[in-house]
Amino acid sequence: MCGRTEDEPPVTWTSQRSNTPRSQDGVMWLCEACTRQNVRSIEGRLDEAWW
Ligand SMILES: [Zn+2]
Repeated sequence: MCGRTEDEPPVTWTSQRSNTPRSQDGVMWLCEACTRQNVRSIEGRLDEAWW
């Protein structure tokens, strides 16, 4: 998301399915920093799904 790329995503990275054309194979990878920054919004979406 932040533009970081790794040949093999570290285990600390978070993978999410995405329909974004930019993402490869429909999977978006979030590095540790982006995961922390987005964890609240991610959880927020999950909460909405449970409504
Ligand atoms: Zn990142």
